[in-house]
Amino acid sequence: MTTNAAPPRALIVGAGPAGALMAILLGRRGYRVDAYERRADPRQLPDADVERRSINLGLSHRGITALTRAGVIDDVMRTAVRAKGRVIHASDGRLSFQPYGSNEREILYSISRIALNRELIRHADRMENVRFHFGMRCDEVDRDAATAVFRGDDGRTERVQGDFVVGADGAYSTVRQWMHRNERADFHQEYLDWGYKELLIPAAPGGSSRIELEALHIWPRGDALIVSHPNPDGSHTATVFLPWEGPRSFATLQTETQVMRFFAEAFPDVPGLVPELAREFLGHPTGSLVATRTAPWHHRDRCVLVGDGCHAVYPFYGQGMNAGLEDCLVLDDQLGRHPADRQAAFAAYQNARKANTDALLELVKDNFDELRDTANQPTFVARKKLDLLLHRLFPERWIPLYTMVVHTTMPYAEALRRHRRQERLLRRLGVDAVLALALPALVAARRLAFRPVRGVPSAKARPPLTHA
Ligand SMILES: Cc1cc2nc3c(=O)[nH]c(=O)nc-3n(C[C@H](O)[C@H](O)[C@H](O)COP(=O)(O)OP(=O)(O)OC[C@H]3O[C@@H](n4cnc5c(N)ncnc54)[C@H](O)[C@@H]3O)c2cc1C
Repeated sequence: MTTNAAPPRALIVGAGPAGALMAILLGRRGYRVDAYERRADPRQLPDADVERRSINLGLSHRGITALTRAGVIDDVMRTAVRAKGRVIHASDGRLSFQPYGSNEREILYSISRIALNRELIRHADRMENVRFHFGMRCDEVDRDAATAVFRGDDGRTERVQGDFVVGADGAYSTVRQWMHRNERADFHQEYLDWGYKELLIPAAPGGSSRIELEALHIWPRGDALIVSHPNPDGSHTATVFLPWEGPRSFATLQTETQVMRFFAEAFPDVPGLVPELAREFLGHPTGSLVATRTAPWHHRDRCVLVGDGCHAVYPFYGQGMNAGLEDCLVLDDQLGRHPADRQAAFAAYQNARKANTDALLELVKDNFDELRDTANQPTFVARKKLDLLLHRLFPERWIPLYTMVVHTTMPYAEALRRHRRQERLLRRLGVDAVLALALPALVAARRLAFRPVRGVPSAKARPPLTHA
């Protein structure tokens, strides 16, 4: 930026995790920032509503790195719960624990989206050059002029002039649509033939958790899946994933009797954990799962996209938000590297990110099969064990895929390439064949892998205040 001219004005559309973080980063660079959000200010919501209305997200290394750089991590961590691994709930009621990494730093944090947003907005709003405008929906963007039209909740419209527009407005981005109008732009959107619905596993009387608190809980059934995230008050938010159609699907679960019969058969321990199961299941909305890929991510030096606005993925690697926060860091870095040439910064940002978020979508699709199907199978568990053992023996040369994706900032495409190389090597060595045939070894591996859940410390979360 030149020193004498007024700093450029950024219009950010959307104050979700990516938009609110971008407001902090651009504010720190000295830009004048106006962030427009169609929803109400999450700081006005009562605390009780935050947990009831919010989806829970798994925050991991990439997101933590971005939030640390923005100086908000300590406040964010105050509302997070540590998850050291996943507890698998088998159909026969047996529980087993799989750690998330090879050491105690390799864990996830469960955080409510609204709580995270509130902290980000609080931090951004402390800066004099950052302003938020809630209840303002972007209806139109002029990509060459960098103007945008916003409609308030009261119907009033306002045309705002910026120097550039940041589209942080999610998977159905209005900015993207206006930016790509009549352009030779690529856009791919797909829906999973599964949807999701949330249920609350309340805390037990006295506030303790009914299931291990510091873990994600997974009920993998092949044709149905539940994943639950812990909340600081001892409750858990469980997400039920099911096909939209078919014999065991949302379409066939329409009455209380059908719902209760289904859970008794597929997830026998769940009715004891969710007191109002049928009422919640039938009353809560069913969400769809969308994935998108697109290009370009920017228009000259006038518009740029971040987060789900340029790459929505299914939630099965817990990376959508983490990747969006990482986008913001990369964009901020590029603006720092090209202070006098915003178009070059935007282009370098797209170059650095797009191949990686495309790779993430591939990774997520594979992980869906793993989560719903194989997480519970002895061959899978034995392979995970072998991966961790090789990692301990050759820490630099052999890194499990999950570790690369979740516990490092290695570019996703490189993680995928390294994983494929590792897989090829194991295949050449015949490891898969050995695992499949050597039943006694499998049983031993299974015993090793399935540590009883009572071995997991059950102290209520005390998230650390600092993160390197
Ligand atoms: C069930 C589920 C579980 C998930 N779990 C995880 C997880 O564990 N870990 C993880 O990393 N990710 C997870 N994700 C993905 C994560 O939620 C998204 O990747 C993340 O929210 C994207 O952030 P964003 O800021 O880019 O977009 P969004 O969160 O979609 O925010 C966009 C914002 O823009 C606003 N907006 C939209 N249109 C306009 C407009 N026209 N004008 C003004 N404002 C507008 C919206 O109101 C919203 O506040 C999950 C997703 C789902 C559905």
